[in-house]
Amino acid sequence: MSHAVEIRDLHKSFGSLEVLKGIDFTVDEGQVVCVIGPSGSGKSTLLRCVNLLEQPTKGTVTVGGVELTDPDVDLDAARRRLGMVFQSFNLFPHMTVLQNVMIAQRRVLRRGRAEAERVARGNLEKVGVAAKCDDFPAQLSGGQQQRVAIARALAMNPSLMLFDEPTSALDPELVGDVLAVMRALADDGMTMLVVTHEMGFAREVADRVVFMDGGVIVEEGPPDQVIGRPQHARTRSFLSRVL
Ligand code: ADP
Ligand code: MG
Repeated sequence: MSHAVEIRDLHKSFGSLEVLKGIDFTVDEGQVVCVIGPSGSGKSTLLRCVNLLEQPTKGTVTVGGVELTDPDVDLDAARRRLGMVFQSFNLFPHMTVLQNVMIAQRRVLRRGRAEAERVARGNLEKVGVAAKCDDFPAQLSGGQQQRVAIARALAMNPSLMLFDEPTSALDPELVGDVLAVMRALADDGMTMLVVTHEMGFAREVADRVVFMDGGVIVEEGPPDQVIGRPQHARTRSFLSRVL
């Protein structure tokens, strides 16, 4: 059986700076993989290469059996199957919550207004912000805005969700609500690749943890192993700083 995500020998350089130095890993259908590692280790670049927001210098990225790095691939079609949630929520400030969750469904998937609204309301319900449909993003807390961003991604029926430090910009008391939504998604069977500093979440929710440092995977395995009994000094040193 093919993997939901397959990364092979992925390299990415910006000019003379080699940020990813040969990354290999897979994510299976329904799995949650958490990527941890120090700032500057290439985690965001890795996620951005997975959805081809960055063009890898070398190597292949295959999602759902489609090789995104194949120059002949219909990248727009392939990307539609990927949901991405960033540290900054990136909602459209001049649109209501409901409009934010409808717009890509309308423009990209060409859904009719009634269907887009039904899907939007359903997903806003799922992430616990249905009561905020007619509010503008600025009227919401950061945690609510991030949950809207998750609903917006889910409304596109992604087969894979990518999260890049989704709780790092939030006040501490708002982190739990967003993690709870992510945990519910994982329990629902969503395939997820999550860059996070939330070691509790990684420990409880991840099927596998990947520790990156300096553009390489230093170690990976089940959370009990990588977070609980790290084999490498670099992993231990990183964990001693974040735990
Ligand atoms: P992380 O997410 O682990 O903190 P990043 O992937 O954001 O790491 O960055 C890894 C390295 O790549 C950093 O040195 C960063 O400055 C560099 N980098 C990231 N994006 C670019 C870019 N567009 N141009 C040049 N350098 C970049
Ligand atoms: Mg980053």
